[in-house]
Amino acid sequence: MKQSTRNILLQAVSGLMIITLLIWQGKRPRLVELDSGYYQTMGTLARMLVVAPDKATAEQAVKAAVAVFDRIETLMSDYDPDSQISEVNRRAFAEPVAVDADVFDVLVAAVEYSRLSDGAFDITVGPVVQLWRTARNTAVAPTPEQIADAGAKVGWRHLILDPEHKTVRFALEGMALDLGGIAKGYAIDKAAEAIRQAGAVGGMVDIGGDLVCFGRSLGQNPHWLIGLQDPAADEKHLMRLALDDRAVATSGDYRRFTILNGQKYSHIVNPVTADAAADLSSVTIIAPTAMQADALATAVSVLGPEKGMALIETIDDVEAILIRSNTPNEYLTTSGAFRYIHNTPVTH
Ligand code: ADP
Ligand code: MG
Repeated sequence: MKQSTRNILLQAVSGLMIITLLIWQGKRPRLVELDSGYYQTMGTLARMLVVAPDKATAEQAVKAAVAVFDRIETLMSDYDPDSQISEVNRRAFAEPVAVDADVFDVLVAAVEYSRLSDGAFDITVGPVVQLWRTARNTAVAPTPEQIADAGAKVGWRHLILDPEHKTVRFALEGMALDLGGIAKGYAIDKAAEAIRQAGAVGGMVDIGGDLVCFGRSLGQNPHWLIGLQDPAADEKHLMRLALDDRAVATSGDYRRFTILNGQKYSHIVNPVTADAAADLSSVTIIAPTAMQADALATAVSVLGPEKGMALIETIDDVEAILIRSNTPNEYLTTSGAFRYIHNTPVTH
C-alpha cells in the first residue's frame, strides 16, 4: 500500500473512532450519586458516597460495604470479648491461635509498619493502651511502676506469625494486641473494594474521618474535595484537599484525649516509653491506601515532627500535613503535599 493511501486510511479510522466515542458518550446513561447516611461501626460513624450507573447498583454497593464493616468489626474489635483479636489476646501465649485471612493480613501489614517506623507503630501496645484507658475511666494517672510493667509486655518482635497455618503466638506472657491504629484503614479499603465490585464507578468511604476516594466524583470539580478539620476548632476546616484514588487519615489528640491532673494525654502511646504521645496535635497522611494512611498517621504521632517528616519523605506517594501541639495555628507539610491542597476558600 502506498504511504499516502495508508495515511488517509489511518486518518479515516481514527476519525471514525472519535465519532464513535462521541456517540457512545452521548448515549451513556446518567450516573447517580447515593449518600449512604451514617452507620455505626468500630466505635465511630461511617458514611459512603457511591457513584453508579443506577440507584439499585448504588444501594447494593452500600449494602456490600456495610457487610464488610460488620465482618471486620466482629473480627478485630478489642472491646468485643467474642472477637478473634480478643481470643488471640486470651490464648496466644499458651498456644498458636488460628485466625481468618483478614486478621492475618492486618497483622502482617502491622509488623511491616513497625519495622518501617522503627517500632513507633506497634499493635502490641495493648497493655499500655489498657492502662491509659483505665486512667481515663478512673481519672487517676498511672504510676511509673504501672507504666513500666505495661511497657515490658510490649514489643512487635515478640509476635510470632505463621503464614502457612495463619496462626498467631505471643512470646511474652501478658501481651495483648490492639488494632485501633490500623483496622479502620483496612476496613475502609475493603469496603471501597466491595463498592467497586458491586458495579460502582466512583465512591468515597469514610470511617470516623479517615477515608478513601476512588473513580469518578459527580461534583462540579473533577476531583474528590475533602475538608480537613482544624484541630484547634470544631466545625472549622483548615484546608481542602483535592484527591483522586487516594486515602487520608488523621490521628491526633484533638478528638480523643484525657485530661489527668491538668495535663492532656493522647490515646496514642509510645511503645518504647509507654507514655502518651504529645508533640503533635494532628497528623494527616495522604496515601494510596487507607490502611497505609491510618498506620502511618499513628506512627508519625509517636515519632514527632522531625523523625515523622523524615520517615514520610522516604515513602513514595505518601504525604503528611502536621500540626504541633505548641503551634496550633501553623502547619508543616512534606514536600509533595501541596499538590493535594485545593486553593478554594474553605467553608467554616
Ligand atoms: P484514631 O483512632 O483517632 O483514628 P489512630 O488511627 O491513630 O487514631 O489510632 C489510635 C489507636 O491506635 C489507639 O486508640 C490505640 O488503640 C492504638 N494505638 C495507640 N498507640 C499506638 C501505637 N504506638 N501503635 C499502634 N497502635 C496504637
Ligand atoms: Mg487513624
